[in-house]
Amino acid sequence: MYTTAFLDLPHLTSAGGTVRLPGSKSISNRVLLLAALSTGHTDIVDLLDSDDTQVMLKALAQLGCRIETQPDGALRVHGLGGQLPVKQAPLFLGNAGTAMRPLTAALALLASEQGGSFELSGIARMHERPIGDLVDALRQLGCPVDCLGQEGYPPLRLGDGAAHALKLDQPIRVRGDVSSQFLTALLLALPLVARQDVVIDVVGELISRPYIEITLNLLARFGVQVRRDGWQRFTIPAGSRYTSPGLIHVEGDASSASYFIALGALAPASPGTDGITIEGVGLSSIQGDIRFVEAARLMGADVSGEANRLHIRRGAWPLKAIELDCNHIPDAAMTLAVMALYADSTTTLRNIASWRVKETDRIAAMAAECRKFGATVEEGVDFIRVTPPTTWTTGSIHTYDDHRVAMCFSLAAFNPAGLPVRIEDPKCVAKTFPDYFEALFEVCQTPEQAIPVICIDGPTASGKGTLASEVAQRLGYHLLDSGALYRATALAAQDAGIDLDNEPALARLAAQLPVRFQDHRVFLAGRDITDPLRLESTGGMASRVSQHPSVRQALHALQLSFRRLPGLVADGRDMGTVIFPHAQLKVYLTASAEQRAQRRYKQLISKGNTANIDSLLADLKVRDQRDTSRAVAPLKPAEDALLLDNSDMGIEPSVQLVLSWWQGKTVFSAR
Ligand code: C5P
Repeated sequence: MYTTAFLDLPHLTSAGGTVRLPGSKSISNRVLLLAALSTGHTDIVDLLDSDDTQVMLKALAQLGCRIETQPDGALRVHGLGGQLPVKQAPLFLGNAGTAMRPLTAALALLASEQGGSFELSGIARMHERPIGDLVDALRQLGCPVDCLGQEGYPPLRLGDGAAHALKLDQPIRVRGDVSSQFLTALLLALPLVARQDVVIDVVGELISRPYIEITLNLLARFGVQVRRDGWQRFTIPAGSRYTSPGLIHVEGDASSASYFIALGALAPASPGTDGITIEGVGLSSIQGDIRFVEAARLMGADVSGEANRLHIRRGAWPLKAIELDCNHIPDAAMTLAVMALYADSTTTLRNIASWRVKETDRIAAMAAECRKFGATVEEGVDFIRVTPPTTWTTGSIHTYDDHRVAMCFSLAAFNPAGLPVRIEDPKCVAKTFPDYFEALFEVCQTPEQAIPVICIDGPTASGKGTLASEVAQRLGYHLLDSGALYRATALAAQDAGIDLDNEPALARLAAQLPVRFQDHRVFLAGRDITDPLRLESTGGMASRVSQHPSVRQALHALQLSFRRLPGLVADGRDMGTVIFPHAQLKVYLTASAEQRAQRRYKQLISKGNTANIDSLLADLKVRDQRDTSRAVAPLKPAEDALLLDNSDMGIEPSVQLVLSWWQGKTVFSAR
């Protein structure tokens, strides 16, 4: 997951390959609650691991539900059988609507029946998301519910500690035109108390019906068959009881699939691929958002599918503008707004009033951000109309703590103007798809020169390793520590008994160097060499190995292969002069030899090594001399490098300086 302040997506040109989707959020949180309320234990396979499911898991654990991971990775939930072992708890539910609504209904009913009191709260935005219609329905049933802030909004107190008889003989009336989650919440909760037939009447037109279908489908899996008269009346039969199905698989998230369906529709297939394949969700999905496929086809996407898989290729191009009632696919429809940027004329998405009460006001958000690309956007109470840009511009996309805004606008990186796109706060995708950007980069391609490279060269112990790794981390870029490759070659030579003057043998070794970087550790043929790699003696050997032109040549291609999406920070001696001569930013880092010897001394002492400052200084000068005087790729600043003498500078100011130089090279204005 990218936890950076922003993520710059280079311009992207093609896509192809297979994506495996994380589990559906809607299914995951419903299944968790049903499993917790059931009798018996349930093993859940492919559960989504995201902010929203973490919130639900934590709440269930607080309520006394035992949950454990099985050796095969499934999550085992030991059901409470409708009994509350914990009768009082404050539950913090973040911004997870799929946890807040159903838990409100279930706990209000159980607290009334069994005597209990629960306080449910969330982040500030959650306290702005209406829940009054559900509260009204629960009060009709006789449940004590207090809105602790503003009437009709969380935080809520459910129950007052005493037991109360529930009024189940009258139909319960609930509005269906603000959020279908109110009805879902009642449907999930009422089987817990259905000693008699319980009837729910929906007032107003029911929106987002497919989500109700998911609910009914899952209720059936847990042994409860709800009778439905049209979309107006639902009856939970007397004697309903939740029984665990034993094992349940969570489908891939159909709303998450929309980004990759759109990707396949708007990106040319990468050479050697047949477009995009999505695993984990297919045409027989129980999720309503699978109908995004129809909308994408209307816009020109070429989509075929099987039960659990989808294939997408670019069909019509440019995409075809559409006018569509999106009530049946409220979440996935946001993706259509971004596809509309690539359409042949104006697209109108209608009947999307629910967007206004989601993670953010999504109509306003989509309008504001689409405009950053030069689109003309009209917004109404319940519609959005997007006219594609005549001249594309780009911008820094504000994401409003809304995962879908972030994921949608990543698709703007295919703009025909060749512009990069900045996504602010990329970690907001953690709500439903923590590794979204990794999955995107995995299947997207762009010409090498479009992938940014920052080079940081300089002499031994100048601090370039630390600086490079910090800069890479702040930007979410890959890191190439080229010195480590020479060091690893030296260690491999030592292992194989190869003399450090035997250039041909060393070059053969370097050309096939079995080195792997993983989680800040380095492995040589599977052996962890992180510690020996950093030894002074290894540095000395590396400096000799790196003298040989054919060794340098042998490591060239390996170094180039580190240039991957979304970008690279490379440190060494010749990054800017030889390996990446066209890098967008080159920094030459220096400090006086005395300062560098001091730093190295402190570093060694802090790791419990013994060291002598005079010999370190002498050593350093020998290596400087060798690096600067060698015939091939001698250490020297690239002509276009920016010099940074950090003798009197701490790490953080150096990092900030380099980041500000970098910002100056990008098309995004400073924030
Ligand atoms: O940077 P580090 O101390 O890990 O590098 C070890 C040795 O590898 C250096 O002393 C230098 O001689 C060599 N090297 C090089 N070119 C690079 C990186 C390191 O010659 N790009």
